[in-house]
Amino acid sequence: THFGEQTVALEDKQGLVDKVFHDVADRYDLMNDLMSMGAHRLWKDAMVADLAPPKAGSRPYKVLDMAGGTGDIGERIVNASLGHAQVVVSDINADMLRVGSERARSWRYPGQVEFVEANAEELPFEDNSFDAYTIAFGIRNVPRIQKALDEAHRVLRRGGRILVLEFSQVDVPGFDAVYRLYSDQIIPPMGQVVTGDAQPYQYFIESIRKFPAPAEFSTMLGQAGFKRVKHQSFTANIATLFSGWKL
Ligand code: SAM
Repeated sequence: THFGEQTVALEDKQGLVDKVFHDVADRYDLMNDLMSMGAHRLWKDAMVADLAPPKAGSRPYKVLDMAGGTGDIGERIVNASLGHAQVVVSDINADMLRVGSERARSWRYPGQVEFVEANAEELPFEDNSFDAYTIAFGIRNVPRIQKALDEAHRVLRRGGRILVLEFSQVDVPGFDAVYRLYSDQIIPPMGQVVTGDAQPYQYFIESIRKFPAPAEFSTMLGQAGFKRVKHQSFTANIATLFSGWKL
């Protein structure tokens, strides 16, 4: 499979994405630490701090962590809530979920997390059934982003919140050139060494460059029905956190 500079038809994109994450699942967490030099942990911590899941309440606080992969966000949310939150970690890729559920055995509150295979574009969950929907570094992989956002809005209850963490375009003068060099020259060879294949990381870089700019993505959130949409950028715009409410 070659993604290169090729334009991939929308129908074919999911197949390519699935192959990428199938191939890297076992080395995924290690690669995240290496590529981001650990920064992905800080961005994820900031996302969960912003969500501030309640630590108690008369009813369960239910979160859908979509494209949840190996469960990083799910684990953080449950820990931040001291075991009060119930998180469904959902992903289209069974290999990523397998790594996650193996890891979950050693988590502090393993009983509060459930792993469910699903496509973000067609969620197997009822309307108005979650208090929060989170998606970290997942939405850019979904072929039909607007469809996924519509689904997120559908499954959230009124008063529910969406948080999207995603890579953005670095536009800080001076740093942008360094970032480009790092992306092109360091990441694919690093992927080659760690996972035995540079191709998935070529896809990774291209998918970041193709993702809509913050203003455009915020408009898409509004089109899905989300209100009070705002965003904040982390680490010279490498990552952006979007927030919206279903009111
Ligand atoms: N959230 C995790 C994290 O932050 O480390 C994993 C992010 S990983 C870069 C992207 C994930 O999106 C992969 O696990 C992939 O399988 C998942 N994904 C891609 N397309 C999807 C879709 N249509 N529906 C659900 N998950 C999808």
